[in-house]
Amino acid sequence: MSIWDEALIQFNKAAKLLKLDNSIQNILTNPKRVLQVSIPVRMDDCKIKVFQGFRVQFNDLRGPTKGGIRYHPNVSLDEVKALAFWMTWKNTIADVPFGGGKGGIICNPKKLSDGEIERLSRGYIEAMHRFIGPERDIPAPDVYTNPRVMAWMVDEYHRIKGYNVFEMITGKPLELGGSEGRADATAKGGVYILEEALKKIKIKNPSIAIQGFGNVGMTAAKLLAKNGFKIIAVSDSKIAIYKKEGLSISKVIKHKQTTRSLEGFKGANTLTNEKLLELNVDVLIPAALEGVITKKNVDNIKAKIILELANGPVSADVRAILFKKNQISIPDILANSGGVTVSYFEWVQNKMSYSWSEKEVLEKLKTKMVDAFDNIYNSCKEFDVDLGTAAYIHSIRKMVKVLELRGYVKKGEDVCMM
Ligand code: NAD
Repeated sequence: MSIWDEALIQFNKAAKLLKLDNSIQNILTNPKRVLQVSIPVRMDDCKIKVFQGFRVQFNDLRGPTKGGIRYHPNVSLDEVKALAFWMTWKNTIADVPFGGGKGGIICNPKKLSDGEIERLSRGYIEAMHRFIGPERDIPAPDVYTNPRVMAWMVDEYHRIKGYNVFEMITGKPLELGGSEGRADATAKGGVYILEEALKKIKIKNPSIAIQGFGNVGMTAAKLLAKNGFKIIAVSDSKIAIYKKEGLSISKVIKHKQTTRSLEGFKGANTLTNEKLLELNVDVLIPAALEGVITKKNVDNIKAKIILELANGPVSADVRAILFKKNQISIPDILANSGGVTVSYFEWVQNKMSYSWSEKEVLEKLKTKMVDAFDNIYNSCKEFDVDLGTAAYIHSIRKMVKVLELRGYVKKGEDVCMM
């Protein structure tokens, strides 16, 4: 099953429970615009290599489309479409005035020099600039892209337009219109959500394992350790490390930053990434790639709470299996929405040419995350479904209201059990 087929399962389940009209389902499951571009890049050896780039602008009914740009060898149109679809629902749940979009380039950034990545990033904006912009589609970082890449992109847009448009992209460095709190926002938002979930489930001193030690996973580890949580295992693409008594996260971060790997970290046992997922922990945080908890390994997953900080790490049918076993999977479109929420704050600040302090940003973030969690938890109780289905129920209802107000649904027409 493709990732796009997977993405539809959860939507279809919620749509069925809401008795959603077919025509509305069609509007909501077809992307508004799909772009594929070829990007010729002069490599360091002077030869030209052509890369494939994508941008899917899925739904702009609630505002300009918004979502990150991913650099990875496995990027495909199917994947970008699914990610753009998820962004539509994530932005609705986060209650930010954006639709859903996503982009990606098929490349292996680990094998590219900084200069090649810069030329590739500028080439992407060159190819896409007519279709993106602060009122149309606002990109941001995703896997293997970062503020450095966003800085090249905002500069390229400046070069093309002839003036600065900082609000055309988010996740920028502070010096170029970035927001205080953005770097840690996805992980911080996830920690707020986890703390709310722990209040409901009442687990004391939970043990935690984290898969993925990049922007999101490493920051989550740092924040959780700072808040006194015990992290017993973490992993990157090569290896997982494990210590029953709890890892010293500051030492692990130092090692990762010095050697760019978790390999060779002293004072912990090693594991495979697969075994990390199956550890006997209270909380498991997948923070790397999609499709890591599947029907194949779900019976071996022991964590009581799974906080989906990555996009798409747990499929819809697997969330339902976990729910039946009294294990809670907090869906990605809720758990990792802190990033896009602070991206929204960044966009607002750029439009106002004004900046908020980190304290102001984090207060606003916490309010939005706690509200989002409460809304979805309430839908979960109302329909007696897993949190993933509840998240779709809540956001589809909001979207149907927008369709109604925009005139897609005639008043009184029976499209949805509201
Ligand atoms: P990143 O590139 O900074 O880090 C990814 C991490 O995953 C790295 O540590 C890498 O070594 C590890 N990894 C790669 N392949 C792996 C594998 N097969 N098994 C285990 N680990 C592997 O990316 P990121 O920004 O931290 O994003 C991680 C996830 O969070 C992605 O799914 C992304 O879409 C999602 N996300 C990120 C943001 C954000 O603000 N950066 C926001 C929302 C969602």
